[in-house]
Amino acid sequence: MDSNPATIGVVGCGVSGLTTSIRLLQGGKKVTILAKEIPPFTTSDKAGAIWLPYKIGPRNKVLSWALITYRKLERLSKKKKTGVSMVHLLRKGNVDQDNWWLEDLNNKLSRPIADVQNDAESEYQVRVPFVDTPIYMHYLLKTFNKLGGKLIYRKVRNLYKLQKEYGTVVNCSGLGARKLCKDTKMYPIKGQIVLINPVAGVDYIADDRPNRELTYIFPRSKDCILGGTSEDGVEDQQVDEKTTRDILMRCSQLVPQLENVKPLRVYVGIRPGRPEIRLEKEAELPLFHNYGHGGAGFTVSWGCAEEIWKLIKKMN
Ligand SMILES: Cc1cc2nc3c(=O)[nH]c(=O)nc-3n(C[C@H](O)[C@H](O)[C@H](O)COP(=O)(O)OP(=O)(O)OC[C@H]3O[C@@H](n4cnc5c(N)ncnc54)[C@H](O)[C@@H]3O)c2cc1C
Repeated sequence: MDSNPATIGVVGCGVSGLTTSIRLLQGGKKVTILAKEIPPFTTSDKAGAIWLPYKIGPRNKVLSWALITYRKLERLSKKKKTGVSMVHLLRKGNVDQDNWWLEDLNNKLSRPIADVQNDAESEYQVRVPFVDTPIYMHYLLKTFNKLGGKLIYRKVRNLYKLQKEYGTVVNCSGLGARKLCKDTKMYPIKGQIVLINPVAGVDYIADDRPNRELTYIFPRSKDCILGGTSEDGVEDQQVDEKTTRDILMRCSQLVPQLENVKPLRVYVGIRPGRPEIRLEKEAELPLFHNYGHGGAGFTVSWGCAEEIWKLIKKMN
Protein backbone atom coordinates (compact mmCIF):
# COMPACT_ATOMS: atom_id res chain seq x y z
CA MET A 1 0.00 0.00 0.00
CA ASP A 2 1.49 3.35 -1.01
CA SER A 3 -1.08 5.57 0.66
CA ASN A 4 0.01 8.65 2.48
CA PRO A 5 -2.44 11.19 3.87
CA ALA A 6 -0.61 13.99 2.04
CA THR A 7 -1.01 12.24 -1.30
CA ILE A 8 -4.10 12.59 -3.46
CA GLY A 9 -5.17 9.38 -5.19
CA VAL A 10 -6.41 9.90 -8.75
CA VAL A 11 -8.21 6.98 -10.38
CA GLY A 12 -7.58 6.83 -14.13
CA CYS A 13 -4.75 7.61 -16.52
CA GLY A 14 -6.69 8.86 -19.55
CA VAL A 15 -6.74 12.52 -20.57
CA SER A 16 -8.96 13.45 -17.58
CA GLY A 17 -6.83 11.70 -14.93
CA LEU A 18 -3.52 12.95 -16.33
CA THR A 19 -4.67 16.55 -16.84
CA THR A 20 -6.25 16.69 -13.38
CA SER A 21 -3.12 15.21 -11.79
CA ILE A 22 -0.84 17.67 -13.55
CA ARG A 23 -2.98 20.60 -12.34
CA LEU A 24 -2.85 19.28 -8.76
CA LEU A 25 0.92 18.75 -8.93
CA GLN A 26 1.33 22.28 -10.28
CA GLY A 27 -0.67 23.48 -7.30
CA GLY A 28 1.87 21.85 -4.96
CA LYS A 29 -0.02 18.62 -4.14
CA LYS A 30 1.44 15.13 -4.16
CA VAL A 31 -0.40 12.81 -6.53
CA THR A 32 -0.54 9.08 -7.18
CA ILE A 33 -2.48 7.81 -10.19
CA LEU A 34 -4.07 4.36 -9.85
CA ALA A 35 -5.15 2.88 -13.16
CA LYS A 36 -5.84 -0.44 -14.80
CA GLU A 37 -4.81 0.89 -18.23
CA ILE A 38 -2.22 3.52 -19.04
CA PRO A 39 -1.30 5.22 -22.34
CA PRO A 40 -1.25 4.06 -25.09
CA PHE A 41 -4.06 1.70 -24.02
CA THR A 42 -6.78 4.05 -22.72
CA THR A 43 -9.85 5.28 -24.58
CA SER A 44 -8.21 8.70 -24.73
CA ASP A 45 -5.42 7.24 -26.88
CA LYS A 46 -8.01 6.30 -29.49
CA ALA A 47 -9.62 9.72 -29.83
CA GLY A 48 -9.62 12.04 -32.87
CA ALA A 49 -8.91 14.46 -31.15
CA ILE A 50 -10.19 17.81 -32.27
CA TRP A 51 -11.36 20.59 -29.95
CA LEU A 52 -15.14 20.47 -30.50
CA PRO A 53 -17.95 20.45 -27.91
CA TYR A 54 -19.55 17.23 -29.20
CA LYS A 55 -22.01 15.01 -27.28
CA ILE A 56 -21.27 16.75 -24.00
CA GLY A 57 -23.12 18.66 -21.29
CA PRO A 58 -24.16 20.60 -19.24
CA ARG A 59 -23.93 23.38 -21.80
CA ASN A 60 -23.46 26.33 -19.42
CA LYS A 61 -20.48 24.69 -17.67
CA VAL A 62 -19.05 23.14 -20.81
CA LEU A 63 -18.73 26.62 -22.31
CA SER A 64 -16.33 27.81 -19.64
CA TRP A 65 -14.41 24.50 -19.39
CA ALA A 66 -14.02 24.38 -23.17
CA LEU A 67 -12.78 27.98 -23.31
CA ILE A 68 -10.13 27.36 -20.61
CA THR A 69 -9.02 24.26 -22.53
CA TYR A 70 -8.95 26.10 -25.85
CA ARG A 71 -6.60 28.72 -24.41
CA LYS A 72 -4.35 26.18 -22.71
CA LEU A 73 -4.08 24.02 -25.85
CA GLU A 74 -3.38 27.13 -27.95
CA ARG A 75 -0.45 27.88 -25.63
CA LEU A 76 0.76 24.26 -25.86
CA SER A 77 0.62 24.44 -29.67
CA LYS A 78 3.50 26.95 -29.47
CA LYS A 79 5.70 24.47 -27.60
CA LYS A 80 7.61 21.65 -29.27
CA LYS A 81 6.74 17.96 -28.86
CA THR A 82 3.32 18.45 -27.29
CA GLY A 83 1.41 17.11 -30.29
CA VAL A 84 -0.94 20.12 -30.23
CA SER A 85 -1.49 22.36 -33.24
CA MET A 86 -3.99 25.04 -34.23
CA VAL A 87 -5.86 24.01 -37.37
CA HIS A 88 -8.62 25.32 -39.59
CA LEU A 89 -11.46 22.86 -39.37
CA LEU A 90 -14.02 22.83 -42.15
CA ARG A 91 -17.21 22.19 -40.24
CA LYS A 92 -20.10 20.88 -42.25
CA GLY A 93 -23.10 21.04 -40.05
CA ASN A 94 -26.12 23.01 -39.22
CA VAL A 95 -24.85 26.28 -37.79
CA ASP A 96 -27.87 26.50 -35.51
CA GLN A 97 -26.88 23.22 -33.90
CA ASP A 98 -23.44 24.66 -32.99
CA ASN A 99 -24.55 28.17 -32.10
CA TRP A 100 -24.60 27.48 -28.37
CA TRP A 101 -20.80 27.32 -28.26
CA LEU A 102 -19.80 29.17 -31.44
CA GLU A 103 -21.29 32.51 -30.47
CA ASP A 104 -19.94 32.40 -26.94
CA LEU A 105 -16.41 31.56 -27.99
CA ASN A 106 -16.44 34.08 -30.80
CA ASN A 107 -17.36 36.78 -28.30
CA LYS A 108 -14.83 35.76 -25.69
CA LEU A 109 -11.74 34.98 -27.73
CA SER A 110 -9.73 37.98 -28.83
CA ARG A 111 -9.46 36.49 -32.32
CA PRO A 112 -12.79 35.23 -33.71
CA ILE A 113 -12.58 31.54 -34.32
CA ALA A 114 -15.41 31.17 -36.76
CA ASP A 115 -16.01 32.57 -40.17
CA VAL A 116 -19.55 31.53 -40.94
CA GLN A 117 -20.43 31.30 -44.59
CA ASN A 118 -24.12 31.56 -45.28
CA ASP A 119 -24.29 29.12 -48.13
CA ALA A 120 -26.90 26.43 -48.58
CA GLU A 121 -24.67 23.77 -47.09
CA SER A 122 -24.05 25.61 -43.80
CA GLU A 123 -20.32 25.16 -44.05
CA TYR A 124 -17.97 27.22 -41.99
CA GLN A 125 -14.37 27.28 -40.89
CA VAL A 126 -13.37 27.30 -37.31
CA ARG A 127 -9.83 27.73 -35.93
CA VAL A 128 -9.41 25.15 -33.19
CA PRO A 129 -6.75 23.11 -31.38
CA PHE A 130 -6.04 19.64 -32.70
CA VAL A 131 -4.38 16.98 -30.57
CA ASP A 132 -2.18 14.28 -32.11
CA THR A 133 -3.01 11.77 -29.39
CA PRO A 134 0.04 9.43 -29.53
CA ILE A 135 2.33 12.46 -29.03
CA TYR A 136 0.08 14.35 -26.59
CA MET A 137 -0.66 11.43 -24.25
CA HIS A 138 3.07 10.74 -24.09
CA TYR A 139 3.68 14.44 -23.38
CA LEU A 140 1.10 14.41 -20.55
CA LEU A 141 2.61 11.30 -19.00
CA LYS A 142 6.12 12.79 -19.23
CA THR A 143 4.94 16.05 -17.65
CA PHE A 144 3.23 14.10 -14.85
CA ASN A 145 6.46 12.17 -14.16
CA LYS A 146 8.61 15.31 -14.29
CA LEU A 147 6.39 17.00 -11.73
CA GLY A 148 6.93 14.08 -9.37
CA GLY A 149 3.68 12.17 -9.88
CA LYS A 150 3.60 8.47 -9.08
CA LEU A 151 1.76 5.86 -11.15
CA ILE A 152 0.47 2.51 -9.89
CA TYR A 153 -1.15 -0.21 -11.99
CA ARG A 154 -4.17 -1.19 -10.01
CA LYS A 155 -7.80 -2.00 -10.58
CA VAL A 156 -9.82 -0.05 -8.02
CA ARG A 157 -12.88 -1.90 -6.78
CA ASN A 158 -14.17 0.43 -4.12
CA LEU A 159 -13.77 4.21 -4.12
CA TYR A 160 -14.77 4.54 -0.45
CA LYS A 161 -12.05 2.14 0.67
CA LEU A 162 -9.58 3.99 -1.52
CA GLN A 163 -10.66 7.28 0.05
CA LYS A 164 -9.89 5.83 3.47
CA GLU A 165 -6.45 4.85 2.17
CA TYR A 166 -5.61 8.17 0.52
CA GLY A 167 -7.69 10.74 2.33
CA THR A 168 -8.50 12.64 -0.86
CA VAL A 169 -9.48 10.83 -4.05
CA VAL A 170 -10.38 12.12 -7.51
CA ASN A 171 -12.28 9.69 -9.68
CA CYS A 172 -11.38 10.10 -13.39
CA SER A 173 -12.29 6.57 -14.45
CA GLY A 174 -14.24 7.34 -17.66
CA LEU A 175 -16.67 4.57 -18.51
CA GLY A 176 -15.23 2.60 -15.57
CA ALA A 177 -17.31 4.89 -13.32
CA ARG A 178 -20.43 3.05 -14.45
CA LYS A 179 -19.40 0.14 -12.24
CA LEU A 180 -17.31 1.97 -9.65
CA CYS A 181 -20.12 4.44 -8.85
CA LYS A 182 -23.03 2.27 -9.98
CA ASP A 183 -23.85 5.21 -12.22
CA THR A 184 -26.82 4.23 -14.38
CA LYS A 185 -26.58 7.48 -16.35
CA MET A 186 -23.34 6.32 -17.97
CA TYR A 187 -23.61 4.72 -21.40
CA PRO A 188 -21.12 3.59 -24.06
CA ILE A 189 -20.84 5.34 -27.43
CA LYS A 190 -19.00 3.25 -30.01
CA GLY A 191 -16.66 4.97 -32.45
CA GLN A 192 -14.77 3.29 -35.28
CA ILE A 193 -11.70 4.86 -36.85
CA VAL A 194 -9.69 4.00 -39.97
CA LEU A 195 -6.03 5.06 -40.06
CA ILE A 196 -4.36 5.63 -43.42
CA ASN A 197 -0.91 6.85 -44.48
CA PRO A 198 -0.51 10.64 -44.47
CA VAL A 199 -2.02 12.32 -47.56
CA ALA A 200 -0.58 15.70 -48.56
CA GLY A 201 -2.84 18.74 -48.82
CA VAL A 202 -5.88 17.28 -47.05
CA ASP A 203 -7.90 19.66 -44.85
CA TYR A 204 -9.38 18.98 -41.40
CA ILE A 205 -13.07 18.24 -41.93
CA ALA A 206 -15.90 17.29 -39.57
CA ASP A 207 -19.21 16.62 -41.26
CA ASP A 208 -22.02 16.31 -38.80
CA ARG A 209 -25.01 17.40 -40.85
CA PRO A 210 -28.34 16.11 -39.57
CA ASN A 211 -29.51 12.78 -40.96
CA ARG A 212 -26.02 11.79 -42.08
CA GLU A 213 -23.36 9.63 -40.48
CA LEU A 214 -20.67 11.52 -38.56
CA THR A 215 -17.68 11.80 -40.94
CA TYR A 216 -14.29 13.32 -40.19
CA ILE A 217 -10.81 13.59 -41.63
CA PHE A 218 -7.94 14.60 -39.34
CA PRO A 219 -4.39 14.53 -40.77
CA ARG A 220 -1.71 13.75 -38.16
CA SER A 221 2.09 13.76 -38.22
CA LYS A 222 2.50 10.05 -38.97
CA ASP A 223 -0.91 9.06 -40.34
CA CYS A 224 -4.38 10.37 -41.11
CA ILE A 225 -7.57 9.63 -39.18
CA LEU A 226 -10.73 8.82 -41.11
CA GLY A 227 -13.91 8.56 -39.10
CA GLY A 228 -16.25 7.67 -37.97
CA THR A 229 -19.25 6.41 -36.14
CA SER A 230 -21.12 7.42 -33.02
CA GLU A 231 -23.37 4.59 -31.87
CA ASP A 232 -25.11 5.32 -28.58
CA GLY A 233 -25.46 2.30 -26.28
CA VAL A 234 -23.09 0.09 -28.29
CA GLU A 235 -20.10 -1.31 -26.42
CA ASP A 236 -18.64 -4.13 -28.50
CA GLN A 237 -15.07 -3.42 -29.49
CA GLN A 238 -15.26 -5.42 -32.70
CA VAL A 239 -14.28 -3.69 -35.92
CA ASP A 240 -17.12 -3.86 -38.42
CA GLU A 241 -15.86 -4.44 -41.98
CA LYS A 242 -18.92 -2.89 -43.61
CA THR A 243 -18.45 0.20 -41.45
CA THR A 244 -14.81 0.42 -42.58
CA ARG A 245 -15.92 0.41 -46.24
CA ASP A 246 -18.59 2.96 -45.43
CA ILE A 247 -16.12 5.32 -43.66
CA LEU A 248 -13.73 5.09 -46.63
CA MET A 249 -16.58 5.83 -49.04
CA ARG A 250 -17.93 8.79 -47.04
CA CYS A 251 -14.47 10.33 -46.68
CA SER A 252 -13.69 9.96 -50.37
CA GLN A 253 -17.00 11.63 -51.19
CA LEU A 254 -15.81 14.63 -49.15
CA VAL A 255 -12.24 14.52 -50.52
CA PRO A 256 -11.90 12.69 -53.86
CA GLN A 257 -8.10 12.43 -53.26
CA LEU A 258 -8.94 9.73 -50.71
CA GLU A 259 -10.47 7.38 -53.26
CA ASN A 260 -8.83 3.93 -53.19
CA VAL A 261 -6.68 4.60 -50.10
CA LYS A 262 -5.82 1.47 -48.11
CA PRO A 263 -6.36 1.22 -44.34
CA LEU A 264 -3.23 0.98 -42.21
CA ARG A 265 -5.19 0.03 -39.11
CA VAL A 266 -8.82 0.02 -38.06
CA TYR A 267 -9.96 0.21 -34.43
CA VAL A 268 -12.85 0.92 -32.12
CA GLY A 269 -13.01 3.22 -29.09
CA ILE A 270 -15.88 3.45 -26.62
CA ARG A 271 -16.69 7.01 -25.52
CA PRO A 272 -17.80 7.48 -21.90
CA GLY A 273 -21.30 8.85 -22.55
CA ARG A 274 -23.37 10.64 -19.91
CA PRO A 275 -26.10 13.27 -20.35
CA GLU A 276 -23.91 15.58 -18.25
CA ILE A 277 -20.32 15.40 -17.02
CA ARG A 278 -20.17 14.51 -13.35
CA LEU A 279 -17.82 16.98 -11.74
CA GLU A 280 -18.45 17.41 -8.04
CA LYS A 281 -17.38 16.63 -4.51
CA GLU A 282 -19.36 14.06 -2.52
CA ALA A 283 -21.27 15.77 0.28
CA GLU A 284 -19.54 14.26 3.30
CA LEU A 285 -16.22 13.04 1.94
CA PRO A 286 -13.13 14.39 0.17
CA LEU A 287 -14.07 12.22 -2.80
CA PHE A 288 -14.29 14.09 -6.11
CA HIS A 289 -15.64 12.98 -9.47
CA ASN A 290 -14.55 14.03 -12.94
CA TYR A 291 -15.99 11.65 -15.53
CA GLY A 292 -18.62 11.24 -18.25
CA HIS A 293 -16.96 13.44 -20.90
CA GLY A 294 -18.64 11.69 -23.85
CA GLY A 295 -17.27 12.70 -27.25
CA ALA A 296 -15.31 15.71 -26.02
CA GLY A 297 -12.99 14.74 -23.16
CA PHE A 298 -10.03 16.55 -24.73
CA THR A 299 -12.15 19.64 -25.44
CA VAL A 300 -12.90 20.28 -21.75
CA SER A 301 -9.92 18.55 -20.09
CA TRP A 302 -8.02 21.58 -18.72
CA GLY A 303 -11.22 23.38 -17.69
CA CYS A 304 -12.40 20.34 -15.71
CA ALA A 305 -8.95 19.95 -14.13
CA GLU A 306 -9.09 23.61 -13.05
CA GLU A 307 -12.53 23.07 -11.50
CA ILE A 308 -11.29 20.07 -9.48
CA TRP A 309 -8.31 22.13 -8.32
CA LYS A 310 -10.68 24.92 -7.14
CA LEU A 311 -12.89 22.41 -5.27
CA ILE A 312 -9.88 20.84 -3.54
CA LYS A 313 -8.43 24.24 -2.61
CA LYS A 314 -11.79 25.26 -1.14
CA MET A 315 -11.76 22.20 1.08
CA ASN A 316 -8.34 22.98 2.61
C1 LIG B 1 -13.39 7.26 -31.65
C2 LIG B 1 -13.33 8.40 -30.68
C3 LIG B 1 -13.12 9.69 -31.15
C4 LIG B 1 -13.08 10.77 -30.25
N1 LIG B 1 -12.83 12.03 -30.73
C5 LIG B 1 -12.72 13.07 -29.85
C6 LIG B 1 -12.40 14.37 -30.33
O1 LIG B 1 -12.23 14.60 -31.53
N2 LIG B 1 -12.30 15.37 -29.40
C7 LIG B 1 -12.49 15.16 -28.05
O2 LIG B 1 -12.39 16.12 -27.26
N3 LIG B 1 -12.80 13.93 -27.59
C8 LIG B 1 -12.93 12.89 -28.46
N4 LIG B 1 -13.27 11.64 -28.00
C9 LIG B 1 -13.70 11.48 -26.61
C10 LIG B 1 -12.55 11.34 -25.65
O3 LIG B 1 -11.68 10.36 -26.11
C11 LIG B 1 -13.10 10.96 -24.26
O4 LIG B 1 -14.08 11.86 -23.83
C12 LIG B 1 -11.93 10.96 -23.27
O5 LIG B 1 -10.90 10.13 -23.75
C13 LIG B 1 -12.36 10.52 -21.88
O6 LIG B 1 -11.20 10.53 -21.12
P1 LIG B 1 -11.15 9.93 -19.66
O7 LIG B 1 -9.76 10.16 -19.16
O8 LIG B 1 -12.28 10.47 -18.88
O9 LIG B 1 -11.42 8.37 -19.86
P2 LIG B 1 -10.45 7.20 -20.40
O10 LIG B 1 -9.52 7.66 -21.44
O11 LIG B 1 -11.35 6.05 -20.72
O12 LIG B 1 -9.60 6.82 -19.12
C14 LIG B 1 -10.17 6.16 -18.03
C15 LIG B 1 -9.07 5.68 -17.11
O13 LIG B 1 -9.65 5.12 -15.95
C16 LIG B 1 -9.10 3.83 -15.72
N5 LIG B 1 -10.07 3.02 -14.97
C17 LIG B 1 -11.38 2.80 -15.25
N6 LIG B 1 -11.94 2.02 -14.29
C18 LIG B 1 -10.94 1.75 -13.40
C19 LIG B 1 -10.87 0.99 -12.19
N7 LIG B 1 -11.94 0.35 -11.72
N8 LIG B 1 -9.67 0.93 -11.55
C20 LIG B 1 -8.59 1.56 -12.00
N9 LIG B 1 -8.60 2.29 -13.14
C21 LIG B 1 -9.76 2.38 -13.83
C22 LIG B 1 -8.80 3.30 -17.11
O14 LIG B 1 -7.89 2.23 -17.04
C23 LIG B 1 -8.19 4.58 -17.72
O15 LIG B 1 -6.87 4.72 -17.28
C24 LIG B 1 -13.28 10.55 -28.87
C25 LIG B 1 -13.46 9.25 -28.41
C26 LIG B 1 -13.48 8.18 -29.29
C27 LIG B 1 -13.67 6.80 -28.76
